[in-house]
Amino acid sequence: MSAESGQAAGRNKLVYYDTNVWIAHLRGYNDEFFQSECDTLFDDMHEGKVKVVVSNHVLSETLHTIRKQVVETAPEGAAMDECNKLVDEKTKEFTGEVEKLKMQQKILIVPTSTADASLKDHYRYVWDKMHSMPFKSLTKTVCPACAKYLHKSHKGECPACKKDVKPKMAYRYSGMGYPDLDHAYMALQHNASVLYTHDKAFKNLWGDPEFEGMKICVFDDKIGWLVS
Ligand SMILES: [Zn+2]
Repeated sequence: MSAESGQAAGRNKLVYYDTNVWIAHLRGYNDEFFQSECDTLFDDMHEGKVKVVVSNHVLSETLHTIRKQVVETAPEGAAMDECNKLVDEKTKEFTGEVEKLKMQQKILIVPTSTADASLKDHYRYVWDKMHSMPFKSLTKTVCPACAKYLHKSHKGECPACKKDVKPKMAYRYSGMGYPDLDHAYMALQHNASVLYTHDKAFKNLWGDPEFEGMKICVFDDKIGWLVS
């Protein structure tokens, strides 16, 4: 699948950034590679190379995460009203930024449902997709005592439970969850040409005929953007 086939399928230049992309850009991310890639995506938006279609779902999730992080990283010994004040400040900062981007027409904020797709259609779509789409199970290596993810060549003490262990193989379900399908549906409804996410579950949409013409870029911490 390529960008050319996207144009052929009539997709426009709107792109969809998943919540994890917004958060990495606004709040930082512990992986510098992902962080800098997300900053680049936002540079593209500021330079007018793309317009970002952003659903109320993304804005709500982003705001919720920002508020949680503010409280959880409040200075030691901070009083409750100090925490609340910090949350208020960050909320205003975020909503102000969103409003500015909207005025500058760099983003298009869309409600959960569109004029030609009712809320009922939306939830029916998510449900139908949820139980009908195929999914892949992945393997992972974990601590046999506490199930923490360990590198497959790990030897010695588990960093979580401190027991001396040999990792064992386990499976990881990689199907799309309800909020993932919500994002996918929004991107589809608004004809986004590209969707960017850090969530591996989105690989399940690769090759899905319904998403023909939409590039689905899933970030891999070692390789970078993997494209359908
Ligand atoms: Zn352990």
